[in-house]
Amino acid sequence: MNSQTPAPSIAIVGAGIVGLAHAVAALDAGYRVTVIEQDAAAVTSSVRNFGHVGASVQAGELGELARESLPLWLGLAERAGVEARRSGTLAVARSDAEAAVLHEVLAERAPEGARLLSGAAAAAELRLAPGGEAAGAIRAGLMLPADITANPRTAVARIAAWIAGHEQGEVRFRTTVHAVDTGLVETSRGRIEADTVIVATGHLLGRLFPELASTGGVRECALQMARVRAPHAMGLGPAVLTGTSMLRYGRFDGPAADALRDELTAQRPELFEISANVMLTQQADGTLLVGDSHAAHDAAPPFLDERWSRILLDEVATLLGAPRLDVLERWQGLYATSTAGDILRASPAPGVHVVTLTTGVGMTVGLGLGARTIAAL
Ligand SMILES: Cc1cc2nc3c(=O)[nH]c(=O)nc-3n(C[C@H](O)[C@H](O)[C@H](O)COP(=O)(O)OP(=O)(O)OC[C@H]3O[C@@H](n4cnc5c(N)ncnc54)[C@H](O)[C@@H]3O)c2cc1C
Repeated sequence: MNSQTPAPSIAIVGAGIVGLAHAVAALDAGYRVTVIEQDAAAVTSSVRNFGHVGASVQAGELGELARESLPLWLGLAERAGVEARRSGTLAVARSDAEAAVLHEVLAERAPEGARLLSGAAAAAELRLAPGGEAAGAIRAGLMLPADITANPRTAVARIAAWIAGHEQGEVRFRTTVHAVDTGLVETSRGRIEADTVIVATGHLLGRLFPELASTGGVRECALQMARVRAPHAMGLGPAVLTGTSMLRYGRFDGPAADALRDELTAQRPELFEISANVMLTQQADGTLLVGDSHAAHDAAPPFLDERWSRILLDEVATLLGAPRLDVLERWQGLYATSTAGDILRASPAPGVHVVTLTTGVGMTVGLGLGARTIAAL
């Protein structure tokens, strides 16, 4: 860009990971950037998740975006002090059907660096007592070393602070956007003009663009989560996925996962009732983020179902060989969901771009998605 003329400007609505990803990419490309966020800090999806950048388990376009996101996370760790470490992901098999899924992935569509672990080696990754019941229950593990674990409590705040400190960047918190059109954004604190507007409002898309949200089938997915004390010293190891995770992520799709689904449906109906993805990430303070259940709503009730929490917590306690888990916090997460596809992209007016992830992988693919949108402007 010519240093005599001002750089083109971009206004971004939403300071979750998707909005901030666009902001970082735009600043790197030389734009002037204003991020507008209704709350005093981003407190919705992007702080309520596991912080799992699970690139290895995504497939198709999500897989490409996820792979592009990995170096961007590491770059933000350096530039913005984001807590993100290359933890890897360990998928744990505790039945023959689950082990068959891992073998099939390794044989037919293994991500780079993937390696199969014996049950004992997988148990050792979790620091389970050798010879104990929990260690003995593990049949195999698939280690996926490329993946990252971030601290979701601090990541978006640190990225926002980095943007605010950039000479061409600005973040306006406590500012609600009421309307967006070509070249302008109407907010609770007045009008903002910009050459390009990007709308990254997550599950709240319908407040600004009700028609887009309704034609895109956007609903709210409510999830139950908890933060627990690690029941034993786990050594800040990998993110951990279990059998239900193998039914959720594209990398595992195949005949073995179909067989696993049939088996789990028959044997563990309660996991299907709550649409469970039993998984955890390990955080630097010695706590684990564990979850989660899924339920789609037009307007998600805020109430946490204690039975659902117990199902998830008991499952993780059994995995880790703990009689019970010491729960420090519980919360509800929300993200946009749709049966129509994984990403809703639209341009409702010239120069206005709506980017909504309609599946729960924003930490994994968001940075790559932002980079692609900006590169295509
Ligand atoms: C429990 C849970 C666990 C998850 N685990 C993972 C995981 O481990 N890995 C992974 O990849 N993904 C995970 N996800 C999904 C991931 O968190 C989301 O996909 C991602 O955070 C979505 O980011 P976003 O920026 O689109 O939305 P948000 O984080 O919701 O950000 C949207 C922002 O827009 C603001 N906004 C909305 N409307 C307006 C307006 N009119 N004016 C101004 N501001 C507005 C909101 O206040 C909000 O801050 C999980 C999600 C949940 C809920």
